[in-house]
Amino acid sequence: MTSAGTFSPGDPRALRSAQQQVSHVAGLQPVQDAFAWFRSHSPQLDELQLQVTAIPAPPWGEGARSAWLAERFAELGLSDVHRDELGNLLGIRAGADPDAPFIALSAHIDTVFPAGTPIAVRHDAGNLYGPGISDNSSGIVALLAVAGALDAAKVANSAPILFIADVGEEGEGDLRGMRHIYQQPRWSATIASLVVIDGAGTDTIIAEGLGSRRYEVTVRGHGGHSWSDFGVANPIVALARIIDRFARTPVPVSPKTTFNIGIVNGGTSVNSIPELATMRVDTRSASVEELDRLERALHEAVDHVIPEVTGRKKQELLTAEVRVIGNRPAAELPGESQLLKMIRAVDTQLGNTARIQRASTDANIPLSLGREAIAIGAGGSGGGAHTIHEWYDPTGRDLGLKRILLLTLALAGVADE
Ligand SMILES: [Zn+2]
Repeated sequence: MTSAGTFSPGDPRALRSAQQQVSHVAGLQPVQDAFAWFRSHSPQLDELQLQVTAIPAPPWGEGARSAWLAERFAELGLSDVHRDELGNLLGIRAGADPDAPFIALSAHIDTVFPAGTPIAVRHDAGNLYGPGISDNSSGIVALLAVAGALDAAKVANSAPILFIADVGEEGEGDLRGMRHIYQQPRWSATIASLVVIDGAGTDTIIAEGLGSRRYEVTVRGHGGHSWSDFGVANPIVALARIIDRFARTPVPVSPKTTFNIGIVNGGTSVNSIPELATMRVDTRSASVEELDRLERALHEAVDHVIPEVTGRKKQELLTAEVRVIGNRPAAELPGESQLLKMIRAVDTQLGNTARIQRASTDANIPLSLGREAIAIGAGGSGGGAHTIHEWYDPTGRDLGLKRILLLTLALAGVADE
């Protein structure tokens, strides 16, 4: 279900046709006007980025940010602006061909920072600073910039364009926002291609979804006084041994496979034998088999350690539970897909060099359903993602914005002037 081009996959003319489509669109006056709008509005885009970053958007707490964005969507002339039951914000730029399927552009609006994290934003020597400033305020600004430029330059896109500011991408949000959108027949049946904008840069095309699984391991015990109950089995000691055992699991370099113990919690006080210890584990791989193997290794570590630490007496009984708290599918876009050809043609047109990469993004959801999706950056550069020291350098932002705009319009088509 693509809206532009009718050649069959694998046809050697397909690449040429994608290139012709892109260079045709790039040469249209309204598209040139939209490109110029990006350059002339760069101070306003920096300002928008500081404003959106200053609105906290912790996991499951994106409401204030999406309310602010709903006003921006409406100002930019998008129609049917609304938030769905999860808090995803959607808006439509109507197309000349109302029956064509949507080309969708998305940016996640949640951050990794829990509620209450102090958020200080600043503009210093050309760079922007603040938690989430790059991941994903740069993506949010790209959504607004593309909508703004299309509106100002009066570009007549053929297929309608769906703008999505989605929730729940990061961490334990587990892609819940995008998952929900693709569960709605109104969208799943009508989105031809999804272009996810996530973070800064122009040098990557994420066309392969990195699979990840996350677990919470809980060890429970009887607990007691550190002096008078000495000898009662200690859940923290058991958890430490589980970590030690699991962390020795060998992982292949290829397919790249990783694990991380990200959070450890537990205990009551320094002079109490704890009743509870928990940890959260993240595992990632391009291969489902490797994720399965890590899952077995985690269970094996728990099953091995618990009987070792548990004694025979009642107070020495420990129990453990492994709970799945996240599961992101691994999947990839076929090499002959129209979307991949189009982004390649866009990069050729703009003189940009990008490599195909694998990552865990909102694109995982459509990719796992066999639908077309990629994730690309918003332009500029950034660093310190997922830390409060995150920064964004807007130098080169307009290349990223042109890339997104040209891809969107090459896919959607532009009505003949
Ligand atoms: Zn992100």
